[in-house]
Amino acid sequence: MAEHMSCIFCDIISGRSPAEIIYEDDKVISFLDIKPIHFGHILLVPKGHYVDFLEIPEDNLHSLIHATRVVTDAMMKGLKPDGYNIFTNNGVAAGQSIFHFHMHITPRYFNDEIKFMLNLKNYKETEMKKFADKIRRKIQ
Ligand code: 5GP
Ligand code: ZN
Repeated sequence: MAEHMSCIFCDIISGRSPAEIIYEDDKVISFLDIKPIHFGHILLVPKGHYVDFLEIPEDNLHSLIHATRVVTDAMMKGLKPDGYNIFTNNGVAAGQSIFHFHMHITPRYFNDEIKFMLNLKNYKETEMKKFADKIRRKIQ
């Protein structure tokens, strides 16, 4: 599996760096985030060094989603939170800080005061169709 020099997640995958591993199969590894949103916040990582979601080969995607479900199910049963977020940051602008793709899976609790600060926008008249067209044209 392609590794990247000086990538902390590649180091965890190879066993060079320690982590609290939750799940592992031939394509995916999952371990606790060192700086959790809530205790039990999990990261799920493909074993290949793919920088972001679009780099992940098609034949890895099923394993990734399957493992996300297995790990999320275990987290919900083991920790019994009120809900959960599954999210991924891709690119510096989106808040990515480790450039080896990863899913975040975090427990959530009622009134936990965690808010994603959003500034929601309104489309003007035909704008919505314009944005949809720009994307639709590139569907492959
Ligand atoms: P990002 O900001 O790229 O979406 O998320 C990177 C995550 O990796 C952060 O939540 C951060 O706490 C976690 N992280 C960074 N370094 C380490 C580490 O050495 N070990 C573990 N377990 N998590 C790490
Ligand atoms: Zn890596």
